Amino acid sequence: MMRILAVLAVCLGVLTASALDCSQCGRAVQGKYLTANGKNFCSETCYEQTLPKCALCGRPFREGIQIAEYPDKVYCKECGAKPTCFNCRLPNDCEKLDDGRHICRTCKADAIFDQARAQEIFDQVRERMRNDLDLGTDRKIHFYLIGLPELEKRSPGETPPGGELGLYHYSFTEVTTTEKKYPWSKSRDSVKITNERFAIYALYGLTRARLIEVCAHELAHDWMQKNYPRIRDLKLREGFAEYVATRVNTLYGNGFLNTRIEKNPDPVYGGGYREIAAYVRLHGFNGLLEHFAELNGKG
Ligand SMILES: [Zn+2]
Ligand SMILES: [Zn+2]
Ligand SMILES: [Zn+2]
Ligand SMILES: [Zn+2]
Repeated sequence: MMRILAVLAVCLGVLTASALDCSQCGRAVQGKYLTANGKNFCSETCYEQTLPKCALCGRPFREGIQIAEYPDKVYCKECGAKPTCFNCRLPNDCEKLDDGRHICRTCKADAIFDQARAQEIFDQVRERMRNDLDLGTDRKIHFYLIGLPELEKRSPGETPPGGELGLYHYSFTEVTTTEKKYPWSKSRDSVKITNERFAIYALYGLTRARLIEVCAHELAHDWMQKNYPRIRDLKLREGFAEYVATRVNTLYGNGFLNTRIEKNPDPVYGGGYREIAAYVRLHGFNGLLEHFAELNGKG
């Protein structure tokens, strides 16, 4: 008899615990209760505590938005529909710049609009890339802070979906001279490159950290143009520029910016970066340069 009672008691206990306790607060559920994802809740409040919370307004939501580059940040539908800051690429209550770009308050507080300050940062990044990463060139590079319409006007073709915030521009004049030593000898063409000009443009309004990143990316293009000018593959060139940008971000203690580059879903910028990073992991940085030399020879 006693034994049976004991068994009954255990059965009752199991039933109560598994079917009728709120899985959030643990209290016994009375009367009406809520079921979601196979769990029971005593109230709407308890259920909402299990929902993801919006990174902007903090409210729990049932349907929201996730940003590919920042998988740990989720937004409710309303906040997700807000304009995206061109600096941090997150939805926010943004201010509109005169060229139509949106900027959030946090980024605005640290943004650089002044050419002289930007030039200082550019010079310093160039110096550090030369000294710490051995990625330096000795040519004169003009540096300009510009707005979006001017950047778009200067960009070749359409602005890629990778959304570059800067531009590297190399221009030159090709002079072909036809030589004939004697009237009966074969004529020989010689090609001479003159009027070489190097320029880097960056958007005004970038935060200091983002401007450093953009300068590093564009300076990597310059270094590649100087050392491996015949590599035309866009994925390789952008991937390398993004890879150098992550190295410089780390150098400056801005490693938090690298998540965007690493998770960028764009096949050229993100895909290119991941390919270069994987190659370096396997063969080292010198291995990558040997690979570039080989490709440059074929190009
Ligand atoms: Zn509860
Ligand atoms: Zn929200
Ligand atoms: Zn921002
Ligand atoms: Zn680029």
